[in-house]
Amino acid sequence: MAPHSFFLCTFLTFSLSFHEIAALEYRVINVAAATPGGIRFNDEIGHSFTKNIMGTINNYIWSVVFQQNCPADQKQVDSVNTYIAELDGAAGIAWGNNNINISTGYIKDLVGDVKWHFTSLMLHEMTHVFQWNGEGTTPSGLIEGIADYTVLRANHTEWGFANPGDGDRWDQGYAVTARFLEYCDGITPFFVAKLNKLMRVTYNVTYFEDLTGKPLINYGRITRLNIHIDVSDIVDMLNEMVGFSPDKDGKVICFQKLHKTLDVEKYRYPGVPSFLEYVKNRQLWILGDGVMQLRLCDGS
Ligand SMILES: [Zn+2]
Repeated sequence: MAPHSFFLCTFLTFSLSFHEIAALEYRVINVAAATPGGIRFNDEIGHSFTKNIMGTINNYIWSVVFQQNCPADQKQVDSVNTYIAELDGAAGIAWGNNNINISTGYIKDLVGDVKWHFTSLMLHEMTHVFQWNGEGTTPSGLIEGIADYTVLRANHTEWGFANPGDGDRWDQGYAVTARFLEYCDGITPFFVAKLNKLMRVTYNVTYFEDLTGKPLINYGRITRLNIHIDVSDIVDMLNEMVGFSPDKDGKVICFQKLHKTLDVEKYRYPGVPSFLEYVKNRQLWILGDGVMQLRLCDGS
């Protein structure tokens, strides 16, 4: 069956790709052409550039981000419409099934490479057009995170984009969630593509466990001494530190007071208090059911 399915899919890809290229239309409508941002759009970005990147981004989303090389897997739309319009408080929005509004105020205020910044925003908004949202059941933070994941994956992040570990919650959206999805990709290759595929009809938090083999638990910032964590994610870091010894099954780690005769200057975290100070100000994304206990030991 497999070879047959492969050829069937391949055939559909070729035949429908031609059909899709012919049918899928990218439209650019500047409805605020007299505004400063609308004028700047026409002068420095333009309709043809925008149409071109819409097609390029569309193909990038299908082939790279969502791994949807078979048209049967893709969200089908007849056209994508980008409106250059006056918006209150947003750089861009995606709306309806296939519409994007880009703010004239955003375009007016762009500094530096205008087309480059505009492309970053289009990567985000175009993702909304083609992503599955569990027919409305996917949390908005995850929806926005996937859109920013496309930006991250395309190496098109703006200055100030979250670094790995930034933020308070994995699902707070945008760049923070994009970094979390990047982390999941490191556990399960093509995680985002697989997650998106699962969300075609509905969303379930168990998808994370289905794909990674580990339940998703978010503890936000660590403020307690007893924390649940997947030990394998942190044990390398702990190995660099002083005075710990894993128990037989590797799930309990005890930090022990450093012997007074050792040279503490060469250790990054020479004692328990300094390590806890380090931990409490970091966000940990936690996948797994391992248990780690941090114990304050006074050496007695
Ligand atoms: Zn968005």
